[in-house]
Amino acid sequence: MIIVMDYQAPDEQIEVIEKKLVSMGVQTNVSRGVQRTIIGAVGDVSRIDTKLIDALPGVEQIIRIMKPYKIVSRESHGADTVIDISGVKLGGSLVQVIGGPCSVETQEQMDLAASAVADAGCKLMRGGAFKPRTSPYSFQGVGIEGLAMFHKAASKHNLPIVTELMDVRMLDTFMENDVDVIQIGTRNMQNFDLLKEVGQIHKPVILKRGMSATISEWLMSAEYIAAGGNHNIIFCERGIRSFETAYRNVLDVTAIPVLKKETHLPVIVDPSHAGGKAWMVPALSKAAVAAGADGLLIETHPNPPEAWCDADQALNPNELKDLMVQLRGIANVIGREL
Ligand code: PEP
Ligand code: MN
Repeated sequence: MIIVMDYQAPDEQIEVIEKKLVSMGVQTNVSRGVQRTIIGAVGDVSRIDTKLIDALPGVEQIIRIMKPYKIVSRESHGADTVIDISGVKLGGSLVQVIGGPCSVETQEQMDLAASAVADAGCKLMRGGAFKPRTSPYSFQGVGIEGLAMFHKAASKHNLPIVTELMDVRMLDTFMENDVDVIQIGTRNMQNFDLLKEVGQIHKPVILKRGMSATISEWLMSAEYIAAGGNHNIIFCERGIRSFETAYRNVLDVTAIPVLKKETHLPVIVDPSHAGGKAWMVPALSKAAVAAGADGLLIETHPNPPEAWCDADQALNPNELKDLMVQLRGIANVIGREL
């Protein structure tokens, strides 16, 4: 059960409700988001007389939620959530494409990448300064300086930036460097301490699906972030592990409508890490948009053969531009804008 409080209900009203719930034998979790404060009642709520709580000041709505993920579930909020990313909207009727290189390399590379991303019509940019690599001997990312390079390049085109956070100790640095969207990568989808920390801030978070995670595990991970008070979560399907070796991962297109049914939060798709080859990216991107994705996260590099990371799957600037035109056609057919 969740109790949705009036916008900006004072702490005293929240405390009264918490005490009442505890006296009824359940535990509480208060999630203070920017738009709404939600009190979660956890435990045996079957015998709670909701009328006794509904009458208390500050209560807007009481919703009995059967799913284990409460705040992120569609039961808690029927309408699609639109997330504001430093003025750029993600969700609703829009389809947003986030373009950019796998990793930040040099200022020149980021300047060229930002121009290409803006020129293709993308409104958001990606790039990793800290890279989760399978081998400790592979390039690990340029680190903190990369955040400044990224910011400098992207701000010339008013592109909010998306970058991966791997270590909780870097969160303050990300905030100081005005990262607009924090990406939690596939390898950290169940790093619960990391999820709890990003739950304490209000920056939008892209939560990638763990490479072998079920939909319900993924939803529960998002709930960790939401329970802390950060309701600005974007799911990102990036392909899952299977027996198949002909491509990097299997893009789980089925996950798109399933998630859209289960959650009110936006769902985007990363076709680059799914296919693992640039030539597969257009087909997978089109399938994702047709299936109802709210956006795409596409790796693109000014000169793919020279990329320091994931060179095989990066689109070049012209390929990105061409793909955007095709995607716009698909979006329009299904009544969306891109
Ligand atoms: C990435 O986006 O560059 C990345 C490492 O993705 P994933 O976590 O999906 O592998
Ligand atoms: Mn990559």
